[in-house]
Amino acid sequence: MSRNVEDVNEDRIAREFIRLAEIASPSFREREVADYVKYRFDQLGLEVMEDDTGDKIGGDCGNIYARLPGEKNRPAFFLCSHMDTVNPANGVKVEFKEGVFRSEGSTILGGDDKGGIAAILEMLEMLRHQPLAHGDLEILLTVAEERGLLGSKNFDCDRLQSKFGYVLDSSGNPGTMVVAAPAQNLMDIIVRGRAAHAGIEPERGINAIQVAGQALAQLTLGRIDAETTANMGVIEGGKATNIIPDSCFIQGEVRSLDRKKMDSLTTQITSEFTRVAEAAGARSEVRVTFQYPEFRLNKSLKAFKIAAKAAGKAGLKISYETSGGGSDANIINASGKTAANLGIGMKQVHTTEEFLILSDLAADARWLWEIVRLNAGLS
Ligand SMILES: [Zn+2]
Repeated sequence: MSRNVEDVNEDRIAREFIRLAEIASPSFREREVADYVKYRFDQLGLEVMEDDTGDKIGGDCGNIYARLPGEKNRPAFFLCSHMDTVNPANGVKVEFKEGVFRSEGSTILGGDDKGGIAAILEMLEMLRHQPLAHGDLEILLTVAEERGLLGSKNFDCDRLQSKFGYVLDSSGNPGTMVVAAPAQNLMDIIVRGRAAHAGIEPERGINAIQVAGQALAQLTLGRIDAETTANMGVIEGGKATNIIPDSCFIQGEVRSLDRKKMDSLTTQITSEFTRVAEAAGARSEVRVTFQYPEFRLNKSLKAFKIAAKAAGKAGLKISYETSGGGSDANIINASGKTAANLGIGMKQVHTTEEFLILSDLAADARWLWEIVRLNAGLS
């Protein structure tokens, strides 16, 4: 059987993915993987530059922007993945068995988001072997995505010439497109009480941990409605059993597709802490940090139409999804470009059980290839 030169080379993409995954790149330490990808982009004929985000955020690497110049009369589009991973990331050893990539167990795999990078590189390899007349292809590889989208937040989105493109960073199966994702507020709360010896003069103390607990017990958390979630995820306080604790720190978040709902829930939580703390003679300090904006996109936008048609050609099941999480797409969409976040099949992300199936990875590259062809006006 003769091999279709336009098809994905599964051995090549598997090797590429393993190579990428085995270069540790926890957030703020993306240098080594970035240097490798820069070398690959250079080999594939792309113009490559790095911005100064590393210096701004205390990392060892900036965002990588690369461009494969195309024909001016054909539409340009961009692709975006992130180079960093969550921890534990050091010493990733990929086990590839029966078509599935896993880590050997003590680390994450990093399919989030090196699956996206491997798919981009495979599509570029295909393009090298089967040149076709395309428009400018822009690629953005961000840093510190896992730390509140710090890389994309510091990237100058005006650098992107394309009006639309794709972020390869959703855990849905290949063929899935994210049409909406929530905004997020981060909440840092400190309840301040009064320290006292717990055995000798407890009357003088105000127990900050107890006050925090009373306030927490008043809150509705979890899924608030179809668009809104809230969580208090960190609590710290106290020094010893014989000291009435004078402070208690709580960190939480509120997310919603509806900015007004997110802000009003944030205010409600803040007032609840104030009310409970004051009633107990304590006080609370709340710092709210807006993390990223929401987006809601129409399926009839060109970015989705092309991705859906390409998914069909690649033999993928098309589905549209509302995400509960933020990604670089939130930041790029806020800049006025359209970024559709695509499912790339990564599974059990942010755990040491993370895995990725080779046939999904190959489907990602095939999907990108069909997107390039459609954008070029072929097929
Ligand atoms: Zn990711």
